[in-house]
Amino acid sequence: MKILVINAGSSSVKYQLFKMPEGVSLCSGKAERVGEPDGAFITHRLNPGSPEERKTRFERTLPDHASALKEITQILTSADWGVISDLREINGVGHRVVQGGELFKKSVIVDDQVKEGIRKLIPLAPLHNPANLQGIEVAMQMFPHAESVAVFDTEFHQTLRPVAYTYPLPYRFYEQTGLRRYGFHGISHRYVAHQAARMLKQPIETLMLITCHLGSGASVAAISGGKCIDTSMGLTPMAGLVMGTRSGDIDPSIHGFLMDNTGMSNLELEEMFNRESGLLGICGRNDMRDIHNARQNGDKLAQLAFEIFCYSVKKYIGAYVAALGRVDAVIFTAGIGENDPLCRKQICKGLEGMGIVLNRKRNLAAVGEQEVISMIASPVKVLVVPTNEEKEIAASTWQVLTVDDQCS
Ligand code: ADP
Repeated sequence: MKILVINAGSSSVKYQLFKMPEGVSLCSGKAERVGEPDGAFITHRLNPGSPEERKTRFERTLPDHASALKEITQILTSADWGVISDLREINGVGHRVVQGGELFKKSVIVDDQVKEGIRKLIPLAPLHNPANLQGIEVAMQMFPHAESVAVFDTEFHQTLRPVAYTYPLPYRFYEQTGLRRYGFHGISHRYVAHQAARMLKQPIETLMLITCHLGSGASVAAISGGKCIDTSMGLTPMAGLVMGTRSGDIDPSIHGFLMDNTGMSNLELEEMFNRESGLLGICGRNDMRDIHNARQNGDKLAQLAFEIFCYSVKKYIGAYVAALGRVDAVIFTAGIGENDPLCRKQICKGLEGMGIVLNRKRNLAAVGEQEVISMIASPVKVLVVPTNEEKEIAASTWQVLTVDDQCS
């Protein structure tokens, strides 16, 4: 069975074609600058991640998502760079949808009712759900023979109990508008938790895990027996850890304070919290590699940004040790988590009393690869697990189209 995974963002469309159930990636790519007047392009890889990987780039005009998907389907079936001869070879299309609210607790086959549900949730994810929905609508027209499946970034966190997801605000807001913690990056947290269980050779049902997804967006999850019990992002992906350009947790009265004292509007403040804060806000850089360069050249604010970031992750790990009661492994993933030994070292420094003891050499050597980086005797294992959200979406899509289908 061949499954195409689509992750439609506001100005990009990522895709990857998998042979399932083996999970082998046949090709992957990304269309960028979609909807912009010029400069749009598609990068395309054959056999990604294998020794036979080949990569190319196509300059294209991509005024909208429909034109991007049309170009992508032409590449998929082209003589030089294609992997299929006919679009009907694709049996299922799996879509990443950011916000599933309380409506969607698991991945579902898309029909009119599901589309309406995703549309209804737009107020909870105004930056993401419209693009996700557009991707679904275009793909359904382009692949009429294939089932489309929506896989939600929030579904893994739907096992949170009210004690973890309820905000201490007048309860009517939750009842009237669905205002609560939803959590994001769920597809990644679920994928790396299951990979970690394989690495530890233990059933996930027996494990207590803390997963740290540290990319330009960042979040931590506490996972008990494969079920998420708490996570750092909230109603939106702005909450929790300090991130590349997002503030993470801050005093809620800062919003009003800045409104009163700077005359900034609500919209300007939202933009500032989302795009001008976090690491960027502190030191003028949001890429951790640039921050390391700057602090090594004596930039004090870059040093402060690095320390604040690591401290915010450390505090969440501590909190989730308490929430779980016992931890078997801490897992690092995404751009920083997979590739940055300096951040991992700084985060784990001082956690030895909690049984988290890093192996200095293994930590330094682990870059972009699956690895155990704790001391053999460390009571809590520390793992680096590269995330693969597309593979997880393909697996969920396959599950919905085969296993769940047979059960219903
Ligand atoms: P996203 O998908 O949210 O854009 P990624 O998971 O790709 O995020 O992570 C991107 C971030 O990872 C970059 O902004 C950078 O800070 C960090 N990063 C990537 N590679 C490295 C590296 N080798 N060392 C340190 N940080 C890295």
